[in-house]
Amino acid sequence: MPSKLSGGAFEKDLIHAYEYLGKTAALLFNTLEFYNYIAYSVKEDNGGMTRIHVRVGDIVEVSEEQEENAYAQVKAIILHKYNDKKFYPFFVFDWLSFTNSHNNLLQCALYTLQNQTNRQWRCIYPINFVDHNSSSHFLHACSRKCTLRQHDSTKRLYLKSEFFYKAV
Ligand SMILES: [Zn+2]
Repeated sequence: MPSKLSGGAFEKDLIHAYEYLGKTAALLFNTLEFYNYIAYSVKEDNGGMTRIHVRVGDIVEVSEEQEENAYAQVKAIILHKYNDKKFYPFFVFDWLSFTNSHNNLLQCALYTLQNQTNRQWRCIYPINFVDHNSSSHFLHACSRKCTLRQHDSTKRLYLKSEFFYKAV
C-alpha cells in the first residue's frame, strides 16, 4: 500500500465513505486491492445507460450538492472487502480548487491540486460520486520537467479548457 494512503486519516476517510453507503460496521484495513482503471454503467433518468471509464490520474467531475461543479484528480481506485464479504469500490481523490485567476493568453481558469497534507477535504468516496462523464477538460500547466510520458508531479497547477465542446 502506498505510504500516502496509510495511517489514521486514510482509515477515518474510508469509514466516512462507507457511511455514504449506509454501512457503519467496524472495518478491517488489510483487505484492500488497488486498480489503475475502472468502468461501470450508470442509469440515466430517461432510462438509458451511460458508461463511465476512469483511470488513475484522470480529472473527474464530482456530483456535489453545495457546489455546481467540483473537480478531482483520481489518485487511486480501491476495492475494499467489507464484513459482508463483498468488495466495494472507492475513489481516492486529490481535489482541485479554483485559484481565482486565469491564464492571460488562453483565458483558461487555473486550478490547483489540493495539498497532500491538507486534510480539510476527505479523500475517499464511493464510485457513485462520479455518475457522469466530465464535460470539462483539464490540461497540466506543464513545467520544464514534464515529458511526454510523465508530468512533473511537483507542479500542481491545471488549466481548465473552456474551448472543449461536448458532442451531442
Ligand atoms: Zn505537465
